[in-house]
Amino acid sequence: MIDRRIVSLVACALVGAGCTGSATGAASAVPAAATTALAAGDDVLSTSAGPLRIVPVHHGTLRLELDGAVVWIDPWSEGDLSGPKADYVLITDIHPDHFDASALSKVVKEGTVVVAPPVVADQVPGAVVLRNGESRDLGKLGVEAIPMYNLERGPAPGKLFHDKGRGNGYLLTVGDKRIYISGDTECTDEMKALRNVDVAFVSMNLPYTMPPSEAAVCIQAFRPKVMYPYHFRGSNLGELEAALASQPGIELRIRRWY
Ligand SMILES: [Zn+2]
Repeated sequence: MIDRRIVSLVACALVGAGCTGSATGAASAVPAAATTALAAGDDVLSTSAGPLRIVPVHHGTLRLELDGAVVWIDPWSEGDLSGPKADYVLITDIHPDHFDASALSKVVKEGTVVVAPPVVADQVPGAVVLRNGESRDLGKLGVEAIPMYNLERGPAPGKLFHDKGRGNGYLLTVGDKRIYISGDTECTDEMKALRNVDVAFVSMNLPYTMPPSEAAVCIQAFRPKVMYPYHFRGSNLGELEAALASQPGIELRIRRWY
């Protein structure tokens, strides 16, 4: 069980290191396709462990629903947290749009397993600590921590928004399917080296991660079968659509994240 008092105190200490991208552009920069309504079932992935429902929530927040296992990724208070409680919560990084103690307290229940990099796990009693490159079998899903970091972008010369080794992207195994969640990152060698990814969520916003044009280069390197842009506030996804239009075998799914 999460100690809500402690994690709430931590949240108060972390404000100011955000990576929401809200200063970079208006919602009007998002193409019309981003607000397309979905028919029920469009975001259900068939796996050997049963159907997996994919629920885009908001910005970097999403939920995966497998029979007997609800997984929240980076619950943030800006999003709608009213869905089913979490069996697992995966947290990618320390920034408040990813580690939000108040939001976390709203999605957990007795027995929820929280998986986080050390910098976050230090603030969440009982969390499972996963460092870059480490894996854990959680029963219903396998989790591998993939590095997420900036190559060049940061708040000042010589500084990066996300230092290598601090945060985790996650590669999940659910039955016979593999799902990649990038976290806040630029186009790293580790992302380009991924293979056999069925569904990918890749961040793309400036100044904190990368523009859609750079994300497209990475996506064409590891070629996920299904690609969901996420964490893209203020970005022109038309760049991504244009780049992937000539890439058969990569299905682009633009959903309502804002
Ligand atoms: Zn972020």
